[in-house]
Amino acid sequence: MNLFKKRPNEWVRTLFRILLMIFLGVTINYIVYVTGGTKGAWTQLNFIVIVLAAYYWKVRGGLIIALLLGVLMGPLMPLDVAEGIMQTPGNWTIRLSLYLGIAATTGYVFWKNDEINKKIDEEHLISHFTGLYNANKLFLDLNKMIEKDEKFCLVFFNVVNLVEISKYIEYKNIEEMIYKSTTVIKSKFGVQEMYSNNHNEYILVLKEYDEDEITQIISSTLHDVLQSIEIEDHLLKLIVKAGIVFSDDTSNATEIFNEARIASDQGEAYESGVYVYDSDFASERKLFYEISGSLNNAIKNDELYLVYQPIISLKDNVISSIEVLARWDRGDRKPVGPDVFIKIAEKTGSIQRVTKEIMEQFANQLLCWEKEGMKIKASINCTAVEIADDAFREWVKKLVEEKSIDKADMGIEITERVFSRNEKKLNDVLAGLQAEGYCVSIDDFGTGYNTLKYLGQIKADVIKIDKYFIDRIDEKHIKSLVRHIIDAVHEMGLSVVAEGVETKEQLMILKELDCDKIQGYYFSKPLLADDFTDYYKSFNINKYI
Ligand code: C2E
Ligand code: CA
Repeated sequence: MNLFKKRPNEWVRTLFRILLMIFLGVTINYIVYVTGGTKGAWTQLNFIVIVLAAYYWKVRGGLIIALLLGVLMGPLMPLDVAEGIMQTPGNWTIRLSLYLGIAATTGYVFWKNDEINKKIDEEHLISHFTGLYNANKLFLDLNKMIEKDEKFCLVFFNVVNLVEISKYIEYKNIEEMIYKSTTVIKSKFGVQEMYSNNHNEYILVLKEYDEDEITQIISSTLHDVLQSIEIEDHLLKLIVKAGIVFSDDTSNATEIFNEARIASDQGEAYESGVYVYDSDFASERKLFYEISGSLNNAIKNDELYLVYQPIISLKDNVISSIEVLARWDRGDRKPVGPDVFIKIAEKTGSIQRVTKEIMEQFANQLLCWEKEGMKIKASINCTAVEIADDAFREWVKKLVEEKSIDKADMGIEITERVFSRNEKKLNDVLAGLQAEGYCVSIDDFGTGYNTLKYLGQIKADVIKIDKYFIDRIDEKHIKSLVRHIIDAVHEMGLSVVAEGVETKEQLMILKELDCDKIQGYYFSKPLLADDFTDYYKSFNINKYI
């Protein structure tokens, strides 16, 4: 179907031009005749037609039209119609020569102009740094293939550290290295061209490929190319990440190009690798950027709010404390849980702003509860980076003093998983916090790599056993493991919270194992402040046991 798309346009255009020439030629001829013959000035109207023909068909087309018009205005057209005087051969041959001269000159000028424009266009399609075709040419070629319904595979190479390396290596050496590498790749795949976008991005378009094998082939090609790179007598380690996309019926050039770029973002940041486009990865990335961009505004616009999950003491049968959990009211936008936005905030460095906002909101809530005669203890989740930061701890201290909050009421929860790195510094900080009077809880206990190794050393008041173990507590060996953890924690003088308790059976087993406190949906989901107030006031353990 697409085959016919272009041709009728060309034909229609050419036909229209020919008909226009005939119409103008006949009309001008008629005008010259009825105005009395070639003695008038009307013959010069033909200049327009000749210039137009030269514009359409350059020198050759111009000459043909000039010749035809010259003959039409030639021996058969009278010099003076009324008097019946014919032209002399001299009259019309001079005119014919004039016509041919105009056609040749203007045809040449138009041709030259076209050539210059073509050259300028070509230059726009070439990258001056790499000498390869650039993204403009890539889009032109991709669009042609898409129009023809051709299937293709786009491989996007991102030389991650090229910009960095090029600061230290002579420009001409980099150019040479690019030339050699792209030549090897081109010859390996039998293609004429590779394209480049920016200094460090190279694109290969393959029309013949095997979807199942292409990743492997690209990997081994990369391996070969990278092994042989030597610049200024040094073997350089280039990090290249390649992304692969296969075209489909819905492809458009920009989309497929971006998908290949996204594909190359997968994997570790500074490790070479080859990856096929994965739409889940793309959506995750999109969400990442959307969230990281809007999180600061969320704080400004009061979109972050808190919920509180009760923690029940099995020793005293009361609500002994609450865990403070963040929520984000995103209106009509896709909801995201704290597990997602907190991780993103950690990665983008806005976590401190988030935690400070949470702590401020919580401090105000605590004062409200105090006015209602409710003495609540709480724990707030913090990241290791935050609590290791002196300025952050100073900020918390100031907040607590300003609001006259009892430090024992504002505990800190920190995940066990962070203990595998720099535990000495972390333990010192935790010991400092304890000494100041804050209650320190270790979250997600049991999910780290060296759980037991750290158990003996962690400076904390509370250990929170992860939901993973509570979900499986009816299994004999897990129950036994939890028993040992509880006993060991007790021996160290700390207390144990079981997280994620959802059933009465789990609760009863934990009671049997002498667990101190319970947190989980069996008692309550995290609640808004007012709902928690009601829950707190009407709490009776007998409802649950
Ligand atoms: P976490 O610290 O382990 O918090 C406990 C999570 O388990 C909460 O999810 C809670 O709602 C959920 N949970 C409690 N009991 C049950 C149960 O019985 N069944 C089930 N299925 N889930 C239960 P949430 O609120 O979605 O928080 C998820 C994670 O996000 C938290 O895990 C914590 O790591 C992080 N997070 C939440 N709020 C904050 C915050 O304010 N600051 C920081 N740094 N992290 C937060
Ligand atoms: Ca927690």
